[in-house]
Formats: sequence, structure tokens, C-alpha cells
Amino acid sequence: VIFLIFTVIVGWMAKGFIGRSLIRFAEGLVQRTPVVRTVYSGIKQISETILAKGKHPVTHNLLSENALKVLYRLHKSGYQAYLVGGGVRDIFIGQEPKDFDIATNAEPEQVKKLFHNCRLVGRRFRLAHILFGRDVIEVATFRGHHDSEQNQKTSKQSDGGMLLRDNVYGSISEDAERRDFTVNALYYNIADRAVYDFAGGLADLENKQLRLIGDPETRYREDPVRMLRAIRFAAKLDMQISPETAEPIKRLASLLQSIPAARLFEETLKLFLNGKGLATYKLLRQYDLFQPLFPLVNKFLTEDGSSNCDKFIEIALANTDSRINSGKRVTPAYLYAAMLWYPLEALAEERVIDSGLNYQDAMLLAMNDALDSQIKTIAIPRRFTATIRDIWHLQGRLPRRQGKRAEKVFEHLKFRAGFDFLEMRAQIQNDELVEVTQWWRDYQSANATGKQNLVKAINGGKPAQKRNRRPKKKPAPRNNQA
Ligand code: ATP
Ligand code: MG
Repeated sequence: VIFLIFTVIVGWMAKGFIGRSLIRFAEGLVQRTPVVRTVYSGIKQISETILAKGKHPVTHNLLSENALKVLYRLHKSGYQAYLVGGGVRDIFIGQEPKDFDIATNAEPEQVKKLFHNCRLVGRRFRLAHILFGRDVIEVATFRGHHDSEQNQKTSKQSDGGMLLRDNVYGSISEDAERRDFTVNALYYNIADRAVYDFAGGLADLENKQLRLIGDPETRYREDPVRMLRAIRFAAKLDMQISPETAEPIKRLASLLQSIPAARLFEETLKLFLNGKGLATYKLLRQYDLFQPLFPLVNKFLTEDGSSNCDKFIEIALANTDSRINSGKRVTPAYLYAAMLWYPLEALAEERVIDSGLNYQDAMLLAMNDALDSQIKTIAIPRRFTATIRDIWHLQGRLPRRQGKRAEKVFEHLKFRAGFDFLEMRAQIQNDELVEVTQWWRDYQSANATGKQNLVKAINGGKPAQKRNRRPKKKPAPRNNQA
């Protein structure tokens, strides 16, 4: 203390640059150790650690302009406004945040009054979305504790403990307890620019521990999707799931069956299209969470990962990861097409045996079977199932290159995806597809004459011929009697 007072006095007397530096140094000493204070959040005492401005890595140049606009507007209107969740967590570990989530004491209707570009969404969990073109800033009102006396309009729980409605508002410390993982409960306050940690998230970030807040089993029963979030964050953040948080997962994995298929579609996008899809997939399997999401595919997987289906999924995910990590576009359709390919082949063969259909017709029906089965758990939107079918169709067409066929298939809108898919299958099966793939590689890089020569080679040296079509039947004479 004496040293501090001495530094400040000398700084004061020195004035100018040296003086200012000395005073800043003294301030730094005061702020270096985080402040720990105890607050009461409704039911229990929790410790709050505060890292003052400058003592943490969150700076405004790391936040999006839109997130800052929303934070400032709330603050200037007299509300509390904090950045929370992935936005703060990712900055702490040196990753670029995917999106920015904001927490406030303003209720959704009050938020709506402040922003003309605001839309209120969600029944189970009411949120305000502030829209800036394609960028969406999510603003959530502090959640509070549920009690048995609560109004059904704001809070509702199923017999199994699942939260059907979670719209009870509370204080920031209560809000922190209702968040999922400790590392997701760090709050950056726009008012004092400090980071508030209510759940031990800073220590867990340091030790790379992913830990649920509260009793893990209760929290998973409230919302089984938290099991998927545990896996996603463990892979994305390269963290260990703490033993208590990991323990109930296998036991409770089947609870995912009660989650609406539309929500699971959104979650699987986050699981597999985050640049760490392969690591995420391996963890899902390790924790028995793949089965409830992909029951049909799961039947074709083996313990030692030796089936074609196992290999295909791993190669498709590794490709997807490397495309994402080099900034290329990806479509979830490709991944779903790959996951379901070997089950689809098996379903088609079953159809051939059971109903004596030819393979092509059986394949068409099997496509419906495979997709109908998958959308029961994961509601893949129609625009993606259309692409999945295209990719599958092309697998039948790509080997048939005679005559005008190659040219036609090459013009197909999804040729590239179909070809990439074929290339992956060839890699796994190591059969006649290897030759087909090589032929298509040559075809794509050849000029017009080169393309013709490649087709001739397929036709045994003859030029591409028009297919012999059966002469069209003459149309039947129209009966003109009115
Ligand atoms: P991402 O990088 O994927 O955006 P995130 O942690 O920000 O990760 P979001 O889904 O954007 O995840 O949610 C924002 C925050 O809301 C989370 O950090 C967490 O605090 C809270 N949250 C989200 N989903 C849940 C949930 N199911 N249960 C409890 N808290 C949740
Ligand atoms: Mg987020």
C-alpha cells in the first residue's frame, strides 16, 4: 500500500508522460488480482470473480459492430447489457467468435421497443433477434429460477423434468446458474468493461474442463440437447468433459428421442459443420449419442470402424472439415448423402430380393425408404433432400458414359458433388470405380476433342453415336367431337 501511495504521489508530481505512466502502473497493480465477492442468487450463495477492464482479453475491436450497437443502445436506455456465451468464451481462448449473444435485464417486449429491426422468437425460450441483414444478434432476458408455484405461461416442466417453457426472468447471477457450462457463463459488461464469472468458468477455461453448472443429470433431463452441446464444445474447444458431466450421458442418451426433429436438424448442422466434424462424430459414438440421431446408419457401423459405412463417414467428415477450414462452401446434403449411402445400397438390395425389381427401380424406392427413416429423427429440409437424391442418382449415371451420356451428365447442376462422391466411394471400395473416377478426371481437364476421344475409347474406338431410340408411336387420332 505504501509503495502504491508513493508511486501515485511521484506520478502526480512528475506530471507529463512519466507521471501518467506511473499512475497507470499503480492502477494496474490494484487491478491485477481479480476481485472475488460473494453474492446471493435467490437460493444459494455464489462467488463472483470480476476481471476489471484491461485485465482480460475482451476488447471492442474483437466484437462485431452490430453487437456493440445493441450493447450500447441497451445501456444508454438504462438497461444492463452483457455479452455472454460463445462470444466471450472464444475470445478468452483466442478463437474468433461464431456469433455474439447478449444478456440483459430488459424484457423481450422492452427490447422490441428499442430496435425497429427486432423480432421476438421462440415459445419455449423467448428471445429477441436483432436483425442486421444476415447478421443476427440474439438478446436474451436474464432467466430466473423456476418454482412449483409458477404460472404455466412462463414456466412448464414435463413429468421427466424436461423444460417445456423457460420464460421466468431473474437477476444476472440467477441467469448464470441457468446457463449450461461454466465456460459459457462469462459476462462482459458494457457499463464497466469488466468480465464477470459467476460459475468458475475462468478456472475451467484455464484447465480445459467442460463442466455443466448444477447437477448434471437434472440439467440433461431439463434439456437433453445439452448432451450434444457437451460433445460439440469438447471437440470445438479441445476440452475434456469433466467426469461428473460425462457420467450420465450414456445412461440418458435415449432422451434425445424426445427432441423435435427440426431442432435436431439445427443441432446436427452445428455438430458437423464447425470444422471439427470428425472429432465430434468420434465423441458422439464414444458417448452412444450417434445411435439416437442416426438409428438406420448406426446398424452399419462396427466397433473397430472397418465397415465401408464407417470409412465413408470418416472420409466425408475429414473432407468437410478441410473444406470448411480452408474457407470453401459445404452443403449438409453431401454429408447426409454419405452417411446414408451404404444403408441405401443395402435397402435397395433388400428390395431386389423381396420384390424382384431391377436394381435401378429398387434404388429409387430405397431412396424414399432411407430418407423417410432418417427424417423421423432429423428433419432434413426438402431443399437438402432434393440434393441428396441428385447425388445418389448421379452414382448410377456416372459409370454409364457411352454416346451422349457423358456430355449430358457433365451438364448436370450437381455434377461436381456427384463426382466428388464417386471419388470417395472409389477410395473405399478400390474396385472398378477407380477406373471410372480416373476417366472423369481426364474428361474434366480435356478440351472438346479430348472429350470426344475419351468417349470414343469407351465405345471401342467408334465415334459417339446417337442412341437408337425406338420410333415414337404415332399419336392416336384425337377424337374431335366436343
Ligand atoms: P457457439 O459458438 O456455438 O455460438 P455458444 O456457447 O454461444 O456457442 P449458443 O447456442 O449461441 O452457444 O448459445 C449462447 C449461450 O446461451 C450459451 O453460451 C449458453 O450460455 C446459453 N445456452 C444456449 N443453449 C443452452 C441450453 N440448451 N441450456 C442452457 N444454456 C444454453
Ligand atoms: Mg453463440
